[in-house]
Parts: sequence; C-alpha cells; structure tokens
Amino acid sequence: MDMLIGGKHISSEDKIEVINPYNDDVIDTIPIAHRQTAQLAIEEANKAKTSLTEMSAFKISNKLYNVVSKLKDKREEFAESLTLEVGKPINESLVELDRSIETLKLAAEEAKRIYGESIPLDAGLNGKGFFAFTQKIPLGVVCAITPFNYPLNLTIHKIAPAIACKNTVIVKPPTEAPLTVMKFCELLNEEFPDGVVNVITGYGSEIGDYLVCSSDVDKISFTGSVTTGLMISQKAGMKKVTLELGGNDPMIVLNDADIDKAVKGVINGAFLNAGQVCMGVKRIIVEEDIADIFVEKLINETQKIIMGNPSDTKTTLGTLISKKAAIQVEETVNNACKSGAKILIGGERDGAFYQATVIDNVTPDMDLVKNETFGPIAPIIHVHDVDEAIQVANATEYGLQAGVFTNDYAKAMKCANQIEAGTVFINKQSTFRTDNMPFGGFKNSGVGKEGIKYAVDEMTKTKLIGLNLR
Ligand code: NAP
Repeated sequence: MDMLIGGKHISSEDKIEVINPYNDDVIDTIPIAHRQTAQLAIEEANKAKTSLTEMSAFKISNKLYNVVSKLKDKREEFAESLTLEVGKPINESLVELDRSIETLKLAAEEAKRIYGESIPLDAGLNGKGFFAFTQKIPLGVVCAITPFNYPLNLTIHKIAPAIACKNTVIVKPPTEAPLTVMKFCELLNEEFPDGVVNVITGYGSEIGDYLVCSSDVDKISFTGSVTTGLMISQKAGMKKVTLELGGNDPMIVLNDADIDKAVKGVINGAFLNAGQVCMGVKRIIVEEDIADIFVEKLINETQKIIMGNPSDTKTTLGTLISKKAAIQVEETVNNACKSGAKILIGGERDGAFYQATVIDNVTPDMDLVKNETFGPIAPIIHVHDVDEAIQVANATEYGLQAGVFTNDYAKAMKCANQIEAGTVFINKQSTFRTDNMPFGGFKNSGVGKEGIKYAVDEMTKTKLIGLNLR
C-alpha cells in the first residue's frame, strides 16, 4: 500500500514487507519514507489546517458519522486484515472492529461538545466590570504514533478526537502492522479535505524521530513502549505530548475472593491477544491459603485454550507479532525457571506461537515480572496478606491498571487507595476498558489520558477572551 500525503498516494523505491506471523506469507509492502517525506507530510498537514478550522462542528460530526457507517460496512474485511498482520484470533479482531466503531462514534458525538466556560472575573481583585469566557481551540497538527497490538482502535483513539476538535493529523502506524490503519485513513480521506489525514510509513527511529523533533508539529500522541516514550519526551521540546506506555498490571486475589471469577479474569486478561496487551494481567498476586485451589482451577481453564490458525473462529490463542517476539518470551520464561520458577502448563514455542503458560513460584525480583513480558504468561506470586499484596503490586516502575478480587470492601478500598495505577478495578481484571473512560497510566506507564473526551482536552488549548464592561 502507498502512503497518503496531502490527498495523494505516495510511494518510494525502498519497501518493507508486511509479514503474516502465522505462515510467514508476505501480505503486502509499504514504502520506507525518509525525512524529506516526513517534512512533506508536515507541510501538507499545516496547509490543510484552515480547511478544518473553517468547517462547522456540525459538519465535522456528520462526516465522522459517515466514516462510522463505512467502517461498519467493512467490519469483516478489516477484521480479517487485522488478523493477517497481527496474528490475533479473528474473533478478537472483530471485537477490535466493534470497539473502533464505538470509539469513532464517541468522537462524532464529542465534536459537538467542544466549548469553554464563562469566567466571573468580578470575583477577582479589581475584576469588577469585567467579563470573560474561554474557548477550546485546536493545537494545529497532531502526530499519532501507534503500536502493533491494537493498531486500529489505538490509532482511532488519536485521529478521531484530533479531527473532532479540528486538528489535522499525521499518522505513523507500526511497521509490523500498518495495513488496516492505512485502509482506515483512506475512508477518512474520502470525507475530509486533502491533507487533513496524512499517513507516513517507514522506520519510527527515523521518521518518527523527525516528526517528534519538528517545531511545525504541535502535539505528539504516542502509544508504545516505555523506552520509545522516554526518548520522545526528551526530544519533543515545547510541544504537547501524551504518552500511553507499557504496563505490568497486577491482579490481587485475596482469600475471600470468588475464585472462579478471578480465574476467568486471568484467562481473559493474561492470554488475550497472546498476552500482547498493555493492560494485560502480568502478575497474579495470590494469598497463600487459597493458592493451591486457585492454581488447580487456573490450570483446568488454561487447558481449554485452543491455539491455532488465527483465521479459524474456534481459535482462542493466535501467534505473537513475530517469531522474534516469541523467542524473547521463551528466553524470559526460561531465565525465570533457572531462578526457581516452575511451569505448570504450557512453556513451549513453535515459530511465532507461544503456549498459554501458567508459572508458579515466581518471585518479584525475576525479570519475568519486574519488566513487562509481552506474551501469554500467567506468573503466580504468593503473598501472606493484603499489605504484602499491595507492596508487591507497587514494586514496579509501571502503573497502568490493576485488578483486585475480594468481597471485603474495606480491603478492596485499601487496595484501591494504595495501588499506584491509573485505574483500579474491584472484582475485574485490569484488562478492561470502555472507550469513553479516562485511560492512562501513572509512573512510567505514561503521561496524560485518552478516552475521547479526555483526548480532546489534551488536543486543544484554552484561550480566554476578556471584556471590559466598565
Ligand atoms: P514501540 O516499539 O515503542 O513502537 C511504537 C511506535 O513507535 C511504532 O510506530 C514505532 O515505529 C514507533 N517508534 C519507534 N521508535 C521511534 C522513535 N525513535 N521515535 C518515534 N517513534 C518511534 O512499541 P510496540 O512494540 O509497537 O508496542 C508495544 C508496547 O506498546 C508495549 O510496551 C505496550 O504495553 C505498549 N502499549 C501501550 C498502550 C497504552 O495505551 N498504554 C496500548 C498498547 C500498547 P516502528 O514500528 O517503525 O518501529
């Protein structure tokens, strides 16, 4: 597929192959853009700004609704496209499509709700006779840089609110899974003036870096790893930055919990998208006295997972994004085992597949749980009480989301108050998000929030207009 810049399709001599991780087939190729093309995208996005600021909110909302209809019509086609490039089971891709449609709809609604407030200046010293109001105005050009694991919905979480509040956009999709996003941008481009949506492909380390450093880009909205996020925050200068970064989410299971519910939470939270989920369950912290029964039930449920062809509707575990990623997970698990962890089920790799794996005897100092392991792993850490559980939960540089399973409301609230994370769910695993909620982590998991209304806040600036009525 070609890039889309200023409404034109642009290619380059150098190409990257997009590989299906299930069978190594080449699905398509994308151009490798360099700095010159990134500069062109910046110029086109800047040129298109007035075409959007002069458009009414009514019209923008309607146009976004038109894209909602188009995306609904292409639901199955786009889901298949996601499955081919990411290797996720087709049923999970369909869920990503449903969420993408919902996210876009939320932006179409929000486009009509972007306004400031009236400010009583006469409440301030010497303010008598003055009146003021604020307006939320667009930043200008928003650059969206996105990861491979939920490429479509995570990109829509940036593009849709950006356009809803009248910013033009440059999208840099993930090199490993760019195609579905590129197809989606074509749908947007059919509705909006040329240059409102631009897509540039190539290596993030070159063109991503150029976009981040440019003073003609007004905002970087990035989702990806902590390493890249930290680099971006150091280079972005004065422009606004939102960073949605990695997670290492804990699930605490206390001894009064509904164990079946907690086990279901692990199955849905640790193995979804082969564990490549920022808010996936990464550390299962279980009170010692229920650990045996919990583990027994978890093994029984893990046995039911069907690993196989991601396009088969019966499959519940697909591949990782690449064989390289699966080897990395394999090595991390093997290192944990050398330090005393014990695989209870799973632990085998086949190409880009890695089995759903439950590992016991895990200690907080193991790399497996100290850092984000992006694979279908359920590591179990035993603790003696709620205080130790909270201490282990917080013993990480990450703070995205957390889940706590207990029927004791005092303990639930203690966990909710003391866990350092952007979200704490009680009796639900961390792997849960509705697309309207404020989403974003603490600590190294990021800066800023997404969830359409919250993203709009971060993609506008507030101007005050004051009137002297004396
Ligand atoms: P990544 O390696 O950081 O890549 C993310 C994006 O950044 C890609 O488009 C990449 O381009 C680009 N990039 C790479 N180097 C860059 C640079 N120097 N400057 C600007 N852009 C650059 O992350 P990933 O492996 O794709 O995604 C997995 C990570 O994302 C995990 O840590 C996961 O937890 C996190 N994540 C967070 C959230 C959240 O909402 N908090 C959601 C999903 C995923 P290339 O592809 O060309 O390298």
